[in-house]
Amino acid sequence: MAGMLASRVLSAHFERVTLLERDRHSGTEPRKGVPQEQHAHGLLKKAVDLIEGYFPGLFEQLVSAGANVWDMSEAAWFHFGNWQARSQPGLTMYTQSRPLLDSVIRGRLPDIHNLTLLDECEVVKLVANETRSLIRGVELRRRKQEATEVLEADLVVDASGRGSRMPRWLEDLGLPRVEESHVRIEVGYASRRYRKPKNLVTNWKALSIYPTPPKETRMGALSPIEEDIWLVSQAGSLGDHPPNDEAGYLEFARSLPQPHLYEILKRAEPLTPIATHKFPSNMRRHYERLKLPEGLLVLGDAMCSFNPLYGQGITLSALAANTLEGCLAVQPQGDLAGLGARFQSKVASVLELPWLMATSEDLIYPSVEGPRPLWWKMMQGYASRLHERAAYDSVVSTNFAKMMHMTSSPLLLVSPQMVMRAFSAPRGSGGGTPPVLQFTDAPAQSGGSVANVG
Ligand SMILES: Cc1cc2nc3c(=O)[nH]c(=O)nc-3n(C[C@H](O)[C@H](O)[C@H](O)COP(=O)(O)OP(=O)(O)OC[C@H]3O[C@@H](n4cnc5c(N)ncnc54)[C@H](O)[C@@H]3O)c2cc1C
Repeated sequence: MAGMLASRVLSAHFERVTLLERDRHSGTEPRKGVPQEQHAHGLLKKAVDLIEGYFPGLFEQLVSAGANVWDMSEAAWFHFGNWQARSQPGLTMYTQSRPLLDSVIRGRLPDIHNLTLLDECEVVKLVANETRSLIRGVELRRRKQEATEVLEADLVVDASGRGSRMPRWLEDLGLPRVEESHVRIEVGYASRRYRKPKNLVTNWKALSIYPTPPKETRMGALSPIEEDIWLVSQAGSLGDHPPNDEAGYLEFARSLPQPHLYEILKRAEPLTPIATHKFPSNMRRHYERLKLPEGLLVLGDAMCSFNPLYGQGITLSALAANTLEGCLAVQPQGDLAGLGARFQSKVASVLELPWLMATSEDLIYPSVEGPRPLWWKMMQGYASRLHERAAYDSVVSTNFAKMMHMTSSPLLLVSPQMVMRAFSAPRGSGGGTPPVLQFTDAPAQSGGSVANVG
């Protein structure tokens, strides 16, 4: 993802761009290089806006290819012990499988006349000048070939994901190990596709049940993807992972703080095996603190990878591409000196807020190691008042949604109006209106909007 978006940006500034990919892309076939693609990949609104800017008409194309389009007000979302009030309409959401998203974006790349796509090419190391102050290209190996070859380039961009070998390659050039920050959260995912039951009536398009930290660790989410299929992802933090056997998967859903997903999974037809994925820690590699050789930069998960439960990853890749575009715009024509350092420093500051958003919630668990300054404690107290209020107040839930989707600054949440709303909130959890879940072949319960749950 980061490689495709960065290539689009680079193509406007360089004579030739080559995108090297270890896997072979063939439509929506599973790829070894992106094992997380089996799991739910929500797109924040910020990512939608940036990606659409780089590939105009892409989301219309995605919908024609089977993606679902709906409004955030149609999401049923349980978080911090409450069903959140439906947000006001206005945040358009697109849900599809990650392979479909990748293949539609990838399908647009051949339109870029100076971009060459080279599949089944694995980068194996950097090629530097004699003094190792400048990267001159990469060494690559084509599939099923022993011999390597050199591809020369004025600029090398590492977008090879969390497993990037750049730290090692730089050490091989005599540089110190890049510093890393980790906040360990030990999340485990287990996901499966289901056919949407025909006899089900709901008043929502997507469902998320999140835990109340620190006492709960489990979440479950369901979103519509192509061909009337639901993608269900369950996840647990701190090693409390969902299993990949039938009975265990259902039992995990039963243990969620609300019964809706369990009631659905009991009845829905599974279409795939249960895929699992483990994610150890929020991670940042501080390339901004290293004196990188000229002609090199690092972005996407290769630079930072945050707890996927907050759905920020693709947005961070898009923000990095956007930061790169800004850096290239002010770079003197034909001169790349200082580009890498300037980019890594700018993108590091762009990451600060998303890092704070992801790790602040993880740090609510006492066993998660990381700094908890006084302001963090105060912020948590205030946030929990807002979360309670969000069960009853669509202005609060809408502002939360805008902040999460990175279309508004978090300062929105501390405006005088929001502070007043937070402190007029009724205390205690268990609020909010449960979403409708009605199986038409089961007798309806009277008086509740969740007709035959529980
Ligand atoms: C379980 C899970 C759920 C997630 N859910 C969400 C979500 O809801 N929303 C969201 O925005 N993000 C989510 N993410 C994060 C998202 O998947 C990543 O942030 C995103 O894929 C980052 O893109 P990337 O291009 O940096 O890396 P990747 O997508 O991992 O791509 C790296 C690419 O580099 C290739 N490659 C690797 N090494 C080499 C090499 N040596 N030579 C050539 N090619 C190579 C790989 O084959 C691959 O194609 C989730 C992550 C996980 C683990």
